[in-house]
Amino acid sequence: MFSKILIANRGEIAVRIIRACKEMGISTVALFSDADREALHVSLADESICIGPARPKDSYLNINAILSAAVACKAQAIHPGYGLLSENPRFARACAECGIAFIGPDADVIARMGDKDEARRTMREAGVPVIPGSGVVASVKEGLKEAERIGYPVLLKARSGGGGRGIRLVNSEKDLERVFPTAQSEALCAFGDGALYIEKYLYPVKHVEVQLLCDNFGAAVALGERDCSVQRKNQKLIEESPCRALTPKKRKELFEFAKKAAKAVGYRNAGTVEFLMDDGGNFYFMEMNTRLQVEHTVTEMVTGVDIVKWQIRIASGLPLDFKQEDISTDGCCAIECRINAETREGLPSCGAVTLLHVPGGPNVRFDTALYQNYAIPPFYDSMIGKLVVCAKTREEAIRKMNAALCELVIEGVEINREQQMEILASPEFEDGTYKTDLCKKLFGCSR
Ligand code: ADP
Ligand code: ADP
Ligand code: MG
Repeated sequence: MFSKILIANRGEIAVRIIRACKEMGISTVALFSDADREALHVSLADESICIGPARPKDSYLNINAILSAAVACKAQAIHPGYGLLSENPRFARACAECGIAFIGPDADVIARMGDKDEARRTMREAGVPVIPGSGVVASVKEGLKEAERIGYPVLLKARSGGGGRGIRLVNSEKDLERVFPTAQSEALCAFGDGALYIEKYLYPVKHVEVQLLCDNFGAAVALGERDCSVQRKNQKLIEESPCRALTPKKRKELFEFAKKAAKAVGYRNAGTVEFLMDDGGNFYFMEMNTRLQVEHTVTEMVTGVDIVKWQIRIASGLPLDFKQEDISTDGCCAIECRINAETREGLPSCGAVTLLHVPGGPNVRFDTALYQNYAIPPFYDSMIGKLVVCAKTREEAIRKMNAALCELVIEGVEINREQQMEILASPEFEDGTYKTDLCKKLFGCSR
């Protein structure tokens, strides 16, 4: 087992990883930017190293600075968290070259899945159903031909996109002609890759994803699924497990597809396979996230499995010590609300948290890096906390979430609490039939 791990991330996920390390007796090294000197992850870690100015590209995305820090402090492994460098194959490869274990899958697996076009091809060949679509379309002309074949409406997607960005809805030929050049240059700017492909727009549907743990000895276990259909602008707002809409038979089929997907690329460590499910109960592979997911907490609450600890154990060469049959949710249900510091219009809200009270009680978890008087810097993600509850029935979980949201006090910045409560109160959420159009129905916002 490792004795020292460097955490190449910030915010709530850095805190989450440090906690796992502490419980495992592993010492921790935090990295921070100039803007994060006062951040919680820095004070919780055993050591900390400043790696540069506030902007992510100068600090948390600076591969050379991070690896120099890791070598200098003699870290044996690096945990990348989510976002930032977590899905960057160059980073994973550079870690390996420095003799430092990257806590995640192999660099070439990250590369194969991160290229969404290649991932779709690999999945199709492996017998996993994918969303009807095209390969990379190099020109408007080619795009028009493919869209015609697939049938409008379609999505124009960036091959290297992520975080809900690089996706455009296209309703007609005219639309496609108009947005293609801008989509191409935006993708190039945001992801360093201007390549685009087209997918049939399946709407409204369920977003269902499978949490996998795969060890180095060929064992793969599905820790259940999550329903992440509550989304705004393709970004998840509420996640829950299990998905109400799945029968045991459909769930089994879904797990088999997810495992087939992982097996096709020799996947190791924790990963998530995302699918869309239409009204006919058909699954379509969307992408695989080759990292820890924001909403891994939901799965931890229903299964009792600590996913971060298992990521570390797997990276250090240990085998999984449980089998698929050992995983049970005991009929429990967990729900997570992402707490974002933002205005009702969805604009970021920064500044000092003047008052903070975190809800508690049985089966209530609040993952955050906030503390009273902490000033939220303007340079990073607006997600400042994840409120997760678990209960014996779904109805009870919804009631618990409402109570916890009421109890939460965060003053000094605007948060999305009202919006979350409106979603929980909607009939579609209450009966679990909600799909990806729920936020549009409730708030009239664009997808
Ligand atoms: P999850 O799939 O775990 O729910 P999200 O899609 O919400 O994750 O992304 C997690 C975090 O990573 C967010 O902060 C998001 O902005 C960021 N992120 C994910 N992929 C990318 C990417 N390709 N480029 C930039 N940021 C990304
Ligand atoms: P990211 O890497 O940004 O997470 P995804 O491909 O996972 O990108 O898509 C993000 C979200 O956009 C999905 O959860 C889903 O709600 C929506 N989406 C993506 N592809 C489609 C599609 N073909 N039809 C309908 N919705 C889609
Ligand atoms: Mg996704």
